[in-house]
Amino acid sequence: MNKSTKKVAAILTFLLIAMAALTAEKSSWQTDDYNMSVFYNAKLHPGDALFVRMIFTPKNDFKNQLLTADKKSTGKIQFFKGKDLTAKSLSQSSFYRIKRSDETAEETILAGVPLNTYVKPGQYTLNVTYSPFGRAKQTFTLPVEVLKKDFELYTLNMPEASTKIRNDNSKEKQQQIAKLNEVLGKCDTNAVYELNAFQAPTPAKRITSTYGERRVYVYTTGKKQNSMHYGKDFGIPTGSEVRACAHGKVVLSEWRITTGYTVVIEHLPQLYSLYYHNSELKCKVGDIVKPGDLISISGATGFVTGPHLHWEIRMNWEAVDPDFFISDFTFEEASKNLLNQ
Ligand SMILES: [Zn+2]
Repeated sequence: MNKSTKKVAAILTFLLIAMAALTAEKSSWQTDDYNMSVFYNAKLHPGDALFVRMIFTPKNDFKNQLLTADKKSTGKIQFFKGKDLTAKSLSQSSFYRIKRSDETAEETILAGVPLNTYVKPGQYTLNVTYSPFGRAKQTFTLPVEVLKKDFELYTLNMPEASTKIRNDNSKEKQQQIAKLNEVLGKCDTNAVYELNAFQAPTPAKRITSTYGERRVYVYTTGKKQNSMHYGKDFGIPTGSEVRACAHGKVVLSEWRITTGYTVVIEHLPQLYSLYYHNSELKCKVGDIVKPGDLISISGATGFVTGPHLHWEIRMNWEAVDPDFFISDFTFEEASKNLLNQ
């Protein structure tokens, strides 16, 4: 912290608001040149994601300077177990710009790290490093609490066709895996399509498999395999409409051996939604889709025991809980409400 930030850090305020699936915590402080607000989710479960939204509002002469010469704020977040920041961070991620006003030069940046389902409950620390408007680097820490969550355990008897898919060692399958990994590994910092809460891809209420459940697959060969369910399964009959969960760009729309007819949509840098086992594709790569747009028709293609839609969210490679994103996860609404107070 610099001197002027330190002076006002004493008047640091914390406000809490409860929302559907997430609690937003806000802190704010001022320097001579700008006001700053930080939003993040201080409490979360394994399988959720940790997001930090920072809003910089320049003042006086500094504001006028920025109106004529736009300067980007940058930074990163690092996630640590306990309070020891000298240990290796569990994960880290860079901020990207999500908004900038031409009238006020106010800038908003966002960063997030995913938590996998194996993260232990307890106290963690988020270290935030930032360079406001390209100025000298500053840091602060935020406390994080990971709450306990149990995941169910199931044994699934896989039919002959799925056993064949599992044992398929073809070059085609390997190429498809490599291609999907390449798509999910891409981080385009300009890919800011959606800041609002996601919606379910189908109104169906019948959930046949939840995110994060531990699975033992039993194949027709008698072989067993331990696995985890990466998504959320809706038990809908073949022929049901599947809709985009949020605004985004279609980055994959094709048939795959394991996941059948598959759609992948990019929503934010390294945040993707995936839709598996469809019978028909209704979108193509490059399409810009809005929330609720028809993207496919559900089916029972690929590695399945019956007709259903598998809906998955991937963030920085990690499969995270789709239900977490049906909330104000970027603090788009929370920031509007709290900044008016
Ligand atoms: Zn599934």
